[in-house]
Order: sequence, then structure tokens, then C-alpha cells
Amino acid sequence: MLLQELREKVIEIALKAQKERLISLTMGNFSARDKETGYICITPSGMEYDKLTAEDIVVMDAEGNILDGDRKPSIEHPLHCAVYRRRKDVFGVSHTHSVFAAAWAACNENIPVVVAELAALVGGPVECAPYKPMGSSELAETAAAHLKDRHAILLANHGVLAVGHDIEAAFANSVVVEEGAKIAYYARQIGVMRVIPEDECRSLRKSTLEKYGQK
Ligand SMILES: [Zn+2]
Repeated sequence: MLLQELREKVIEIALKAQKERLISLTMGNFSARDKETGYICITPSGMEYDKLTAEDIVVMDAEGNILDGDRKPSIEHPLHCAVYRRRKDVFGVSHTHSVFAAAWAACNENIPVVVAELAALVGGPVECAPYKPMGSSELAETAAAHLKDRHAILLANHGVLAVGHDIEAAFANSVVVEEGAKIAYYARQIGVMRVIPEDECRSLRKSTLEKYGQK
């Protein structure tokens, strides 16, 4: 089987996202790009995550051609492919409809950066890309263009697109965005939010890249 290990990793992350309550039922989709071949392993459309096996994960190229697997890929595969085509540094994409982030997206509002983790991991506020229908090539192109060099954006009236240097990092960014969205929501109820200034966001991001973790 082509890329068995990476396909299993995609299932592991989808299950983790379910456990973290970032997704309900089969909503949301996840992919990882293989560093050697450039092939993309993506969750299938509308299948329950806890029943998935490696064969169910679809392998495709960045143009959307299926290379291995009998399942229909996620309806958002054009979105994943568009991101991989534009971003050579991205090897994992996580798309969820997590509730608090989706609430900001429902208002077409950026999530302000009021917590350090959001600045450190995502690099600043989470901006909202304009509305396009789900699964469409317009959504794919608009979202990928709006993402620029960032690690996460909102998709208006829809959800969150998070990316990373691998699928674990993309998933972690989804979690951080949801936490940031939740905290910003509550903060707004308490009073006036104090947004972390742009230069401080940059310095938090830089020091995290340099110092965080075990490497
Ligand atoms: Zn979606």
C-alpha cells in the first residue's frame, strides 16, 4: 500500500480532533503531504472516523488526481490541494468547524489575538476569508490566497483552515485557534479586550520557533 504510515497518521489526527471536540460526526477533514513524493493523504468523504483503516485514506497529487484508494476523497480536497500548491512549507492541513471559531466566522469577524499562544503558534490574529460555498473551487482558491504565509484563517460562515509543517502541527494550530476563539468570546463579555500589539506577536512567534519544544 502506498504511504501506509502517513495514512495511519491522518486517521490518528482525525480521531484526536474528534476527542478534542473540534469536529462532530464526520464534519471536518485532514490531510498530510509526504515529504519525498509530494503525495497527499486525505480523509474520505462522509465516513465515520472510528471505523477508518489505512485503505480508506485517499492518496492524491496536488492537482487532485487520485493515485491510490477506492474511496471518494473529502469534498474539500480542492481546498487542501490549493493550499499545498501555494505553500511549499506546508505538510499538514486541518479543516474543522469547531464551535467558538465558527461563531467568529459566522460574524465574518477576525479572532483578535488576546492570548499569547495564538500569537506564538499562529503568529497573530486569525483573519476571516470571504464566504464561498463549501467544497467549491472558489472556496479553495479564495482561502488558499487569503492564507498567505499564515498558519490559520477562518472561512466565513463555515469554519477554520489550519496548516503546519506536518499534520500534528496543523492539528495543534486548530486547537490553539479554538482556544483563542473561546477566550476572546468570553473576554468580550467581561469587558474591553486588549489586543497583543503586532510587534509583540512577531517577537512571541520568533521566540517560540527558536526555543519551544525538545529539539
Ligand atoms: Zn468545512
